[in-house]
Amino acid sequence: MTTAFDTSFAATGHPPAAPGRQWVNSFSALGPEFHTRLEPRPLASPYWVGRNHALARELGLEDSWLESAEMLDALTGNQPLPGASPIASVYSGHQFGTWAGQLGDGRAILLGEIETRSGCQEIQLKGAGPTPYSRMGDGRAVLRSSIREFLCSEAMHGLGIPTTRALCVTGSDAPVRREEIETAAVVTRIAPSFIRFGHFEHFAHRNQLAQLKTLADYVIDRFYPDCRQAAHPYAALLQAVSERTAHMAAAWQAVGFCHGVMNTDNMSILGLTIDYGPFQFLDAFDPGHICNHSDEQGRYAYNRQPNMAYWNLFCLGQALLPLIDDQEHALAALGSYKTVFPGALQARMRAKLGLVDERGGDTELIEDTFRLLAANKVDYTIFWRRLCGFTAQSGHEPVRDLFFDLESFNAWALQYSDRIRHADGAQRADLMLKHNPKYVLRNHLGEEAIQAAKLKDFSKVDTLLTVLQSPFEEHPGHDSLAGFPPDWAASIAISCSS
Ligand code: AMP
Ligand code: MG
Repeated sequence: MTTAFDTSFAATGHPPAAPGRQWVNSFSALGPEFHTRLEPRPLASPYWVGRNHALARELGLEDSWLESAEMLDALTGNQPLPGASPIASVYSGHQFGTWAGQLGDGRAILLGEIETRSGCQEIQLKGAGPTPYSRMGDGRAVLRSSIREFLCSEAMHGLGIPTTRALCVTGSDAPVRREEIETAAVVTRIAPSFIRFGHFEHFAHRNQLAQLKTLADYVIDRFYPDCRQAAHPYAALLQAVSERTAHMAAAWQAVGFCHGVMNTDNMSILGLTIDYGPFQFLDAFDPGHICNHSDEQGRYAYNRQPNMAYWNLFCLGQALLPLIDDQEHALAALGSYKTVFPGALQARMRAKLGLVDERGGDTELIEDTFRLLAANKVDYTIFWRRLCGFTAQSGHEPVRDLFFDLESFNAWALQYSDRIRHADGAQRADLMLKHNPKYVLRNHLGEEAIQAAKLKDFSKVDTLLTVLQSPFEEHPGHDSLAGFPPDWAASIAISCSS
């Protein structure tokens, strides 16, 4: 169903908020079993908190999207967007390893999909009020977590990691109760689809096989068309999702990203990083690091993420089994994760080390590097960025300075020097500078931007957005954003509360 965007505005006398946009509401066309129609709930006196002009340009959106008062209202949920047909979708899922039953968009409202320069994209307002799936929640998102999601999704994109995107954050002084009273915000999220593993689990668990098939066919036709040609299209879908998830997980591990809440309702069917909550980029390297204060068992610790991704894929496989109809095919499809993940991680780690070719002993070198970093609790991002300047011939003080066990470091440096001895130094440095970011969204950087934003100073949000969108570049004047975390960073406790 395609609706011209600007015609209905003609009747209201308002200028078109986003002239010429074509809405293609294909997800909402799947049927009433998939969603509930509803309108976002308004928030008083909204204001812009963060605007992503680069994404707006990339999507080919008109300037009015991030400039006009009408769009400020529309993207806060205070005014309908003509042509949109807002819905909240239903899904289920496994949370922290146990079946949680029905969940759903408890605070996210999908406005619909628009045609953009980057293909068809869904537009979702997160924090736009209660839905039938809110359970005990208030349907809101607080300013703090909305800024974190806005900045981190764009930081991930800048790092080349598949992710949902964020167009803007709007705020309101409307109070929202969490551990303390905070204020409300809405993130406008963008993705080709927000379908999660949990959408499939929902229909499988209820034995609604017609809807399960409708959903799988929709995902195949829209996002994985090659699977249609396969001998077993639904097994091919499972394999394709497993491979994309493997690439995503490898990218997370390589950059030191901890997601924090890898429940199956937070796993994208497109292999996108989705639902930014208590995430963290590692400061000092600690393989067992748990970033989510609510995760007492460490289920989603940094070094468990790859296995948890596989566990989640297994749930997806079980949900798809009625369509695949052959356990062997399902297991074979899932098996691809076990080859793609290590290969993808190795490739990323080789690039971080500046190894242009593949040689025997690389696996050991990578493992030794991780071991050395862990034993010395070395700052993960700073180590890799400094390593870009390491040469086998000259000294490597800036790297050595990061270690307290110099004997181990010297042994490792010898091993590494030996490996890169015959490499072209310029080519190696070039590769490394493209794979070892200077800037990541550390917790304390987000925290500083949040504290300023609470006082209505949004300049730090703006600066971080700009820098994090090209994290491999130098940003003169912003070296402080690439420094060691201050001591107080260790006391930042981020939980599921958002
Ligand atoms: P999360 O772990 O943040 O992905 O959330 C798990 C589920 O709880 C999802 O279905 C969310 O939509 C829902 N949820 C989280 N916070 C709220 C809230 N404040 N109001 C309503 N639903 C929420
Ligand atoms: Mg979620």
